[in-house]
Amino acid sequence: MRFPKVQNMHVFTPKRCATANKVMYRSQQTAQSEANRLSIERNVDLWIYHCEYCNTWHLTSHLPQTAWTKVPLNQQLKPHSRKRGYKPRRR
Ligand SMILES: [Zn+2]
Repeated sequence: MRFPKVQNMHVFTPKRCATANKVMYRSQQTAQSEANRLSIERNVDLWIYHCEYCNTWHLTSHLPQTAWTKVPLNQQLKPHSRKRGYKPRRR
């Protein structure tokens, strides 16, 4: 006989942030433990960050915006310009 798996975890429907469209966690601790669980479960890296819009914590699979690497202007890619060198002509 087959029994459906009963999940006895207390089910709660998490609220979602209207701005980030992410699950809201009320405390950093909750978000962190959830991030740990999910990262093991899904084998992904998760970060938590504090949302300034809803004042809760979210999980993200990308680095938070604060960790974005900024490329300084003088290191941006330059168009590859070659100086015109003279080629020795064969006569
Ligand atoms: Zn939010």
